[in-house]
Amino acid sequence: MALMITDECINCDVCEPECPNEAIAQGEEIYEIDPGRCTECVGHYDEPQCRKVCPVDCIPLNPAFAETHAALYAKYVQLTTGVQSGAAPENASG
Ligand code: SF4
Ligand code: SF4
Repeated sequence: MALMITDECINCDVCEPECPNEAIAQGEEIYEIDPGRCTECVGHYDEPQCRKVCPVDCIPLNPAFAETHAALYAKYVQLTTGVQSGAAPENASG
């Protein structure tokens, strides 16, 4: 599931540089998360980095984008390698 930023956001700017997928950007009024790029940090970190740093705890799961862990991993692979598959690259261990 992608995450989303609610209107409790105070535009503190700390989450945007933490996102490994460049999924966070300043919207018209508050920061926004692109669900097409958010992997819940799967593939990069054990926990969502934006959530970890948000001082007002305004980044819940986005119920409109339910995804399994495998789907999130496939999104990560596609974002990082351009390959549209759930398979890890053969040299992933290196
Ligand atoms: Fe970016 Fe991770 Fe937050 Fe998703 S959960 S917006 S990938 S920092
Ligand atoms: Fe908004 Fe939280 Fe991001 Fe700060 S860390 S810009 S309050 S979503």
